[in-house]
Amino acid sequence: MHFEILAGYFEKIEAASSRLEMTALLAELFEKIPAKEIDKAIYLCQGRLAPLFEALEIGMGEKFVMEAIARTSGFERKEVEKKFKEVGDLGLVAQEFASKKRQKALFKEDLTLEKVFANLKKIATASGIGSQDLKIKLLAELLNSAKPLEAKFITRVPIGNLRLGVGDPTIMDAFAKILAFEFAKENKKETEKIEKELKEKNPEKRKEELERKTRQKIREKIEEKYNIHSDLGSIAQLLKEHGLKGMEKIEITPGIPIRPTLAERLASAEEIIKKLGKCAVESKYDGFRLGVHKKNGQVWIFSRHSENMTEMFPDIVEAVKKQIKAKEAIFEGEALAFNEEAEEFYPFQVTIQRKRKYEVKEKTEEFPLRLFCFDLLFLNGKSLMNLAFKERRKKLEEIIEKGKVVELTKSIITDSPKELERFFEKSISSGLEGIIAKDLEAKYIAGARKFAWIKLKRSYKGELQDSIDCAILGYFEGKGQRAEFGLGALLVGVFNPKKDQFETIAKIGTGMSEERMKELEKMLSKIKQKKKPVMVSSNLEPDYWVMPEFVIEVRADEITKSPIHTCNWNGSEGLALRFPRLISMRRDKKAEECTHSSEVKRMFENQKKQSTESFGKEGNA
Ligand code: ATP
Repeated sequence: MHFEILAGYFEKIEAASSRLEMTALLAELFEKIPAKEIDKAIYLCQGRLAPLFEALEIGMGEKFVMEAIARTSGFERKEVEKKFKEVGDLGLVAQEFASKKRQKALFKEDLTLEKVFANLKKIATASGIGSQDLKIKLLAELLNSAKPLEAKFITRVPIGNLRLGVGDPTIMDAFAKILAFEFAKENKKETEKIEKELKEKNPEKRKEELERKTRQKIREKIEEKYNIHSDLGSIAQLLKEHGLKGMEKIEITPGIPIRPTLAERLASAEEIIKKLGKCAVESKYDGFRLGVHKKNGQVWIFSRHSENMTEMFPDIVEAVKKQIKAKEAIFEGEALAFNEEAEEFYPFQVTIQRKRKYEVKEKTEEFPLRLFCFDLLFLNGKSLMNLAFKERRKKLEEIIEKGKVVELTKSIITDSPKELERFFEKSISSGLEGIIAKDLEAKYIAGARKFAWIKLKRSYKGELQDSIDCAILGYFEGKGQRAEFGLGALLVGVFNPKKDQFETIAKIGTGMSEERMKELEKMLSKIKQKKKPVMVSSNLEPDYWVMPEFVIEVRADEITKSPIHTCNWNGSEGLALRFPRLISMRRDKKAEECTHSSEVKRMFENQKKQSTESFGKEGNA
């Protein structure tokens, strides 16, 4: 396919004013792309050149990109630099210089998606002596033939700036739109069932509703596979080749990450036992969650959002090879830095230092990790996800051999709130975060937050039980003293995966030191924009918007109803945080992994319940 077509769609997607419009554009585009190229288009839509789990650094410095623009346009580097200072976006700079080229290219070709992708991939993989020059040449080769619009999007890839705002759910929805007709034809019974459940009487609206529900069904079917195989490129290829039936071919594979199951919250030991009955209770360790894959001699390690972290943890790789007695296995655990001399865990701020690409060896020696394993999902060619938790845990116990690094999480089985409470206190006093209670009979539900796991953390008096992870959506310029930092407050929100949108929940101005404000301004001003991103729902207008990318941990006194914030908006009011304070950056989370709107709603309901309960208690006293 000609790259020009893709660039044309990217331009329209960038300008789209609603998610619906964006989905329709993507669907139109995906229909045009042949199956063998669709994976490349999907990765580019995600601003990448490979699925997230492939450790591929796109990186090319801005000055090298400017060099390539200068070489191909016949303008001086200085002129390119000047323009960049003016507009602040190298994509636009490349577009402009491509439209006023001073020199004619000798070898000009029509760029195809294959060609562009191949060169960009070579840029990403070039390393060692002379690699910078090679990267410039590869980019210049593309810019030489590129039309202005093509130049704009090509240039944005190597500087990691191709942010179309297309989330994974939107890509899946676009496929659901394409496949709706085929699905209705091939699944008459299922379609009839959906139709029966419709409440709408008006025939026109009924048709619309049927289509919406059918798409939802298709998206669920795609997502179910995406949860065990987080590579939308290869999923798209199967969908193009075989339609929805292609999804049957997807199985768990070592080396391809599985999306993690997540925990719900309850406020007390009593509530947990009431909900789960007899359950397993494990200490909640405060480190990195790792998905560890082993196949024969090879080990892969993935973060909770499917990033490949294998190179960062050589100590764990070695230990897994020695201590895991299975040819093939996929299991999960929490890794923490452990102080061998004092025989205690280091706090999270120390553990986080192990998340690095450089000086890995030194830090490995300084802060060795321990891996506390808690689930087993795949063993010697077989998926265990449909087994009850107690069976999975038994098998996990069987494959871990005693050693210094890999061990099981501490755990008890109980149906007594008192015993749970005691275990909780013990965990807290040994420096851990709290506990996670687990339903003994539950299957592993990838990519979902369900009551199969329930967390209980230390409660803070007068504060919300748990902190909330918020995505930064925009910021306000400071007034008075804060004006000098260029940032006075943040607009933050939570994610609603059903609508694939971020909903505002607070404006935060407190809890930020001068240093923090400067750091935030530096980080955010690089990605600031005047236009509200399509995936953000907001009634407030900050001075600058940012694409949701960064996550912060926020504490607040309570959740309140709000006529302004759009979290769980019901047409006239939403939910907001009262007295929000920034606690820390959560660099381990992607924006979509911040707290979800549905969690905030449940927290709000819990809070209401608790206050009536405590009011009741006070009343009885
Ligand atoms: P939090 O900020 O509370 O860690 P989260 O959104 O990162 O929350 P949750 O699923 O809500 O994740 O809480 C479970 C997390 O706790 C897991 O993702 C994992 O990283 C960590 N964890 C620590 N110990 C355990 C354990 N024994 N079993 C399961 N998860 C554990």
